[in-house]
Amino acid sequence: MMSSMFKSFLSRDFDYSPLHRLLEIVAILSFFGLVVIISMRAFHGLSVLGWQTAAWLVPLTAALGYVGADFASGFVHWMGDTFGSEDTPILGERFVKPFRDHHTHPQGICEHDYVTVNGNNSIVLALYMIPIALFFTDPTQIWQLLVLACSVTFTCGVFMTNQFHKWAHMSDPPAYIRLLQRFNLILTPTNHDFHHTAPYDTYYCITCGWLNPILERLKFFETLESVARSTFGIKTVNDQPDAIRKQA
Ligand SMILES: [Zn+2]
Ligand SMILES: [Zn+2]
Repeated sequence: MMSSMFKSFLSRDFDYSPLHRLLEIVAILSFFGLVVIISMRAFHGLSVLGWQTAAWLVPLTAALGYVGADFASGFVHWMGDTFGSEDTPILGERFVKPFRDHHTHPQGICEHDYVTVNGNNSIVLALYMIPIALFFTDPTQIWQLLVLACSVTFTCGVFMTNQFHKWAHMSDPPAYIRLLQRFNLILTPTNHDFHHTAPYDTYYCITCGWLNPILERLKFFETLESVARSTFGIKTVNDQPDAIRKQA
């Protein structure tokens, strides 16, 4: 994966603005720097607290952060699939279009290189990680330590989300990825297939997909959508004349 990353840093094979490409590369590199800073700070806080506390705090915060990443992936994906259109100012082209295109060309993601797959998530992550690195500087305070420790797996999960998503679409992913999929540690093709069935209105979470059956049972996104429509009068994709979801 390292070689595909460095190769894509130098590649000119992309069809969007070079400035955005540069921003993506800078954001990917800054992710690695920021996650080291946040992890070291969390490690320092845990060592001060003592390893008996760390023994339960590490697994707890690791799980919370990773599940949080799964939820964030689902929430953002749901927003992209549900609101606005490709013509929406600012967000239409870069945010809505990739989600909608992915339904019509699901295998397209397999053609995207490392920077294209992971760049946009890294840009969004920087907006979360820079304030954490700047303001959560005292890990001996328990609440700061909790935020720092959860942020490690949260940010790693968000950073890897689109890569996990790509691997779930690949017919022949690397053997170690198949193993992670078999143990359900990352998004599996079977879990993600539920989303790729028209009308594309369920199983939005794409980090590990653990929350998908739960949110589906709770009708979580369905409820949010009806609240958005009935209470706030916000139109969804179902209100558009050419709604993809109406093809079901
Ligand atoms: Zn979708
Ligand atoms: Zn997909």
